[in-house]
Amino acid sequence: MVNAMPRCHAIPLAVLLACAASLLPQTAHGQSLRGSTTSVNRMYYHAVDHGMYFYKTPSGLKKAATEGRFVRLSTGTNYRVAGVSYPYVQEATRLFVERLGQQYRQACGERMVVTSGARPQSMRLANSVDKSVHPTGMAIDLRKPGGTRCRTWLRNTLLSLEGEGVVEATEEYSPPHFHVAVFPTPYTRYVSRLDGAPAYAANTPSNRYRVRSGDSLWGIARQHSTNVESLRSANQLRSSSLKIGQVLVIPR
Ligand SMILES: [Zn+2]
Repeated sequence: MVNAMPRCHAIPLAVLLACAASLLPQTAHGQSLRGSTTSVNRMYYHAVDHGMYFYKTPSGLKKAATEGRFVRLSTGTNYRVAGVSYPYVQEATRLFVERLGQQYRQACGERMVVTSGARPQSMRLANSVDKSVHPTGMAIDLRKPGGTRCRTWLRNTLLSLEGEGVVEATEEYSPPHFHVAVFPTPYTRYVSRLDGAPAYAANTPSNRYRVRSGDSLWGIARQHSTNVESLRSANQLRSSSLKIGQVLVIPR
């Protein structure tokens, strides 16, 4: 996983080799679209480890959207939202949909179709797993393209993003769709690296950030190209301690 990599720096060679070897199996079994218990667990424990909340009811989910904890997916030039009761997702997941949709349309000449966003636990589908991460808003479902070329493009693109350790995707058969969970911090960092700019600065209208497990003021400041002093004053923080779930205003 991407997060495990920095631990391998600046340590003796023998340890480094052992460390590199321990990373190999994860990379190898990560790049498959076949659903498995391992895959389900990887998504579920990522959500749990990062303090994500599993919304239980439609009203809880709507309230979260009103309070800015979720953003809305809307039909546009590059993707279409079809039959989705709650078109809300986490910011990083929308960023993923926007980027993938644009690439998909360029490659396939048609709009990508999103068939599911956040789904409250009370509305769990009969054939979905107990550990579904849809209630957290980190996952979306994509309709499987009818044409072979577009289907292959989507398959390969999802596999390569899995290889980067930024999403976990599975190909489902009834109904046919791709289920994709987006790992917010790794994905956002990945996009920042590609674009050379903080992804959220350009993509978050509200310019807010929800504190996750393991975050620090310094880290959040760096991720958004600002500094600790500005973050503190924008949020009237007296100390550097943060709470998981706390929403911070990110100064421009
Ligand atoms: Zn799904």
